[in-house]
Amino acid sequence: MNSSNSLEALSPLVDRALRGDRRSLSRLISRVEDGGPDAWSALSMIYPYTGRAQVIGITGAPGTGKSTLVGEMAKTYRRREAAATVGIVAVDPTSPFSGGAVLGDRIRMRDLSGDEGVFIRSMATRGSLGGLARATTDVVKVLDAAGDSIILIETVGAGQSEIDIARAADTVIVVEAPGLGDEVQAIKAGILEIADILVVNKADRDGVQSTVNALHAMLDLGTAPRGVLQHGRLLPAPMPSILPIDQRWHPPIIKTIAVEGKGIEELTAAIQKHRAYLNDQPEGQQRARMRVSIELETILRETLLNRLIDSIGIDRLGGLIDRVVAREIDPYSAAEQLQRSAAEARG
Ligand code: GDP
Repeated sequence: MNSSNSLEALSPLVDRALRGDRRSLSRLISRVEDGGPDAWSALSMIYPYTGRAQVIGITGAPGTGKSTLVGEMAKTYRRREAAATVGIVAVDPTSPFSGGAVLGDRIRMRDLSGDEGVFIRSMATRGSLGGLARATTDVVKVLDAAGDSIILIETVGAGQSEIDIARAADTVIVVEAPGLGDEVQAIKAGILEIADILVVNKADRDGVQSTVNALHAMLDLGTAPRGVLQHGRLLPAPMPSILPIDQRWHPPIIKTIAVEGKGIEELTAAIQKHRAYLNDQPEGQQRARMRVSIELETILRETLLNRLIDSIGIDRLGGLIDRVVAREIDPYSAAEQLQRSAAEARG
């Protein structure tokens, strides 16, 4: 299929998805997930309609109650405002939304799946994690353009890619639970630094207060300015401005009992407060700029690399890799040779 054909088919699909047809939305999301030029055409068509949703990331160790919490949050948002539609993107392979739950949980999730105003999508966990991070932000964009006003992204908090996924959100919630061992799981996974709000779920269990205390102690110890982190990015991104301590965002710690729907109002109130903070303070703009710079960098990397491979040919590239393996040439000179060949092929 040539690209003009696929564009023709794509355009009506995008129109239908933007008009609220949920089946078209599902199909559009699948095409975006597949990546490639088709996905990019779709994303550039919908881009003008994005930027309106409130995107909330929920992360934490398996078993802390993230999915239960996400379900309760969705119900709360739907109850509060009938016009508010909720999109749930589950990146967590253990999540009931991704089909990884025991039967009891699945039955509970039916409360939501019967609601037309809730759209649930689980991300395929196949493929590289880096690709998954990008695919997730792309899917969030589609839901945003299609008018979902609240988008909840659920991920398992472990590793850089998961952190990248969470960072696509306006507000990041890190979920803890007592009784998962002595250590606070978020500290172990290194995700405390990205938390805008900390939730200690399963507050009906013993040991809640010691988990809360441990988190307080960790937060009090944290001296580095929070907010925008810049792990090895190439494009210019803003450095976090160091606000006076009384103007900085201090992540609140909220206790919830997700199975009983308790603490959810407090949680959504904290999310609103964080949204207001981002609107008022430079950190909001910095985050937006950071997000765009990461995104642009990812697109450029992919485009430039594909173009390079196209013009050189995969066989030639393979041959050069063999020569580096045999230590006949170093990777730096190999990269230079590839760029030269690509330039010659173009010229
Ligand atoms: P996830 O792996 O983080 O998504 O956790 P789930 O939402 O699947 O919850 C794991 C288990 O903990 C399930 O059996 C839930 O019913 C249970 N659970 C969730 N929230 C609570 C809570 O507040 N209190 C108690 N006691 N159990 C909970």
